[in-house]
Amino acid sequence: MRSDHVGCYGYQRIQTPSLDQVAKDGVRFAEAFTPSPITNSSHASILTGLLPSSHGVSDFGMPLEAAHVTLPELLRKQGYRTAAFIGAVILDSKSLAPGLDRGFDFYDNFPEKTDDKSRWGRIERRGMDVVRRAEGWLDAHKADPHFVWVHLYDPHDPYEPPPPYDQKYKDRPYDGEIAYADSALADLLAYLKKQDWYDGALIIVVGDHGEGLGEHGEDTHGIFLYDSTTHVPLLLKLPQEKEAGTVVAAQVRTVDILPTVLDLTRTAKAPKSDGTSLLALIGDKEESSRTAFGETDYPLRFGWAPLRSIRQDGFKFIEAPRPELYDLRADPGETQNRYVPWDSTTGRLRKALSEQRGKTRSGAGRSPGAVSSGTVSELRALGYLDASDARSSTDVPEPSLLPDPKDKIGVQNLLHTAMMAQEDGRTEEARRALTKALAFDGDYAVALRQLGQLEMASANYKGALPYLKRLCDLRPNEARAALDYSRALSLSGDLEGARAVLARSLRLEANQPEARLLLGQIALKGARYKTAEDEFASALLLEPANEQAQIGLAKALLGQKKFTDARELLETTAAAGTQNAELFDLLEEAYRALGRPVDANRARERARSMRQEKTRN
Ligand SMILES: [Zn+2]
Repeated sequence: MRSDHVGCYGYQRIQTPSLDQVAKDGVRFAEAFTPSPITNSSHASILTGLLPSSHGVSDFGMPLEAAHVTLPELLRKQGYRTAAFIGAVILDSKSLAPGLDRGFDFYDNFPEKTDDKSRWGRIERRGMDVVRRAEGWLDAHKADPHFVWVHLYDPHDPYEPPPPYDQKYKDRPYDGEIAYADSALADLLAYLKKQDWYDGALIIVVGDHGEGLGEHGEDTHGIFLYDSTTHVPLLLKLPQEKEAGTVVAAQVRTVDILPTVLDLTRTAKAPKSDGTSLLALIGDKEESSRTAFGETDYPLRFGWAPLRSIRQDGFKFIEAPRPELYDLRADPGETQNRYVPWDSTTGRLRKALSEQRGKTRSGAGRSPGAVSSGTVSELRALGYLDASDARSSTDVPEPSLLPDPKDKIGVQNLLHTAMMAQEDGRTEEARRALTKALAFDGDYAVALRQLGQLEMASANYKGALPYLKRLCDLRPNEARAALDYSRALSLSGDLEGARAVLARSLRLEANQPEARLLLGQIALKGARYKTAEDEFASALLLEPANEQAQIGLAKALLGQKKFTDARELLETTAAAGTQNAELFDLLEEAYRALGRPVDANRARERARSMRQEKTRN
């Protein structure tokens, strides 16, 4: 949530009565900054008091390692009951945020499997849903004390506020989402008051990052480190409403939250932190502003340079291939880049930034978290690019040699538009956006792959060919590019072409079960059963439980009239509890050929009941 879109931060065009109430009952930090414009990294920083380069969660899917102590862990040791209620699958500890649940007695993850096609409940929860879940848990666990994290994801791209906020803020859906989230907060505050918990509670309201809303060319967030995405609201309501109505003007950071809570709960043994308790700043005991660092590795996913920033004494310096320096007092919108290498301010900030980088583990150069294909589609549905195109530690050169994200932001916006359109089934719009991205740069691998995949998903296999071929030419050593291209060739009828591409790819990297599988299927189509048998057998050597390979192998065996071998293989696979009806079709065929009609009929029955079961679901 951007701080400048909240009522108590001076925004006149919105109604946020609950946030304003917390500010009135507590302390408002006018200048609070997140070190990261990315959800996972930012929340990990809040919960550990560490910068992303210290805690290591510099991207989605990267685990928060056990060495980094979390706030709930520390509070649980002191007897607190701890629970977390999340509003988006991006923070699910089973998939995209491993380790973030550490220290929580209860962490409200998303269901592992759901047939629900709507985004609500599957990848996102409305704020009111999250709040009600938290209230339900508190009802069931009444004994004090509690530490509860309630994550409201609504004020976040994509902007789709529910009624009546979609009408009330028709032209400003982001504001509509903030106003809606505020109404969910109202429910939570009323609940706390009803339980007589409000006065005694420490309530911290903080944003994990803002949104670009087109500023600096950035539609959403994640690529840049400007204030539009890093300046967040931070409210602190102390027990018994102490210091109510105080406004702190000094610059603070979200990594200061953990030390503040430990200070207030008198936790003696605090872990090493990149932040400092905020209590010293309240009531003018200390006035000095703190240095705010910023980091983003997200550009690496697009093949662009990661960014680092430092915000100090009214200046911001951004380390980038083309560095930036802003005089924030004269130019709060960060529109006039005053960078010159010999400038003394530049020198001072650059030195402080590199000293900080020396202190923490290096974030750049490590590869992004590996996520499964299931979570890849969740990531895309949320508008983020998966790691498939990211540079890894082995192929990232000196980051300053990568393109500057400033030169690429238009392309990033188009990719983002395409992802969201594809998720919503607006294929034509996605196609238009990706074609436009390729008009900027015809050899841009990320767009080539996306467009190729889009045409494949639309069953336009011939249409996918030129994009996937170009990608294959650009990345001759990449097995996945070869696999995608050969799949398109095979589905558009060019089996010979597909075979040649796969053979070349397997010469570079022999252990590719998917490539072996595809070669086996191509051989089956051409009735070359012995070749098919060898390919499927190779696939099974690499992935013994691969059901597609088992089925392919059975077909190859049946094609060669090796009925006993086929029967043995199929019986073993069936005994493992498969739900695949085709396997029983093949088993029926084997039994019939072997003169066992009773078994054949039983296999046919199994296949039929499985298909019925499937249509019922
Ligand atoms: Zn976020």
